Amino acid sequence: MKCIDVVAGAAHYDVLVGPIEQARERLAALGETILVSEPKVFALHGERVQGLLGWGQPILLPEGEAAKQWDVLHRLLAELAERGASRSTSIVALGGGSVGDVSGLAARLFKRGCPVVHLPTTLLSQADSAVGGKTAIDAFGEKNLIGSFHQPSLVVADPAFLATLDPRQTRSGYAEVLKYGLIDDSAFFAWCLTNGAALIAGDVAARDHAITTAITAKARLIAGDVEDRGGRRALLNLGHSFAHAVESEAGLGTLLHGEAVAIGLVLALRFSATLGLCDAEDADQLAAHLGAIGLPASLDAVGIDGPALLPWIARDKKNDGAALTLILTRGIGEAFVARDIDPARLAAFLA
Ligand code: NAD
Repeated sequence: MKCIDVVAGAAHYDVLVGPIEQARERLAALGETILVSEPKVFALHGERVQGLLGWGQPILLPEGEAAKQWDVLHRLLAELAERGASRSTSIVALGGGSVGDVSGLAARLFKRGCPVVHLPTTLLSQADSAVGGKTAIDAFGEKNLIGSFHQPSLVVADPAFLATLDPRQTRSGYAEVLKYGLIDDSAFFAWCLTNGAALIAGDVAARDHAITTAITAKARLIAGDVEDRGGRRALLNLGHSFAHAVESEAGLGTLLHGEAVAIGLVLALRFSATLGLCDAEDADQLAAHLGAIGLPASLDAVGIDGPALLPWIARDKKNDGAALTLILTRGIGEAFVARDIDPARLAAFLA
């Protein structure tokens, strides 16, 4: 079992990648726990986890993005109160990024903060969302509008959970994996070009390598900028200003997050090429790989008009005044924060 040490400000925790059975002692040592999951994941993997640890009945949330709602957060907090959870009760989230995001927020709020432990079950959550401490629900039509930072006390990412994942969900998670190569690791991008198809088809060693590489990269990027306030953590948003706009324009829940990220990554590279920052071939190579994997790589692929994205991008949390902030790139593995993008240039590009 691999162990990645994450240091995020005052928080210091381990991310274990490997069979959950090998993490039994660490999980058993948590003391009082309340398991939070959702019906599909619990039906598939609950018995294995319960058999190992003998935890009590889980709190089940709705499946997928539907969990990230006020009323679900409210019910989860009410259930924690009813079950007599204390500030030292560990909330253990078994599920994808949706269960993780709302469980993390509930743990942050309950009695001003109790520990959260993530047992992520999707490629996206194992490679990305379970680490870094961002928690959120969607509200007032906007994704992740209400949230806070709450670092987990432990993460156990068992790639065996991914065996039951729908191929579309696996591909979606792969977009976030590929992002790490594009940010600052061209060797990992090259590895993805060679091994991406095998990873998606279920190659366990490839999944293990990708998850470990992504988490290690994320740990490196969040150290020193834990709350995403102008440092290197912002690079994790490569492609995401476009992606959130694509998700919102398509209607929340229509596209999977990673599908929108795939399009967003291509747009970030194409816009960078338009500004003369990188070669157009970089964007072409990325688009060709995503297409071969079965991910959308253009707005045409999802029937969205470029100009429709502009109002959404203008509302992005990262902007400061009229100028737009985007994560752009000088080539594969050379992403940087571009703070002074003229909205007219972006509008011309999107048109
Ligand atoms: P998800 O949690 O929404 O789950 C997607 C689907 O996969 C659901 O139907 C679920 O039941 C199913 N599923 C989960 N695990 C399964 C398994 N092992 N076998 C079979 N089915 C399984 O999907 P996700 O992609 O993990 O998470 C998406 C969410 O993560 C979004 O809300 C996104 O905003 C959030 N996110 C958060 C961060 C962060 O840093 N906190 C980062 C990226 C994304």
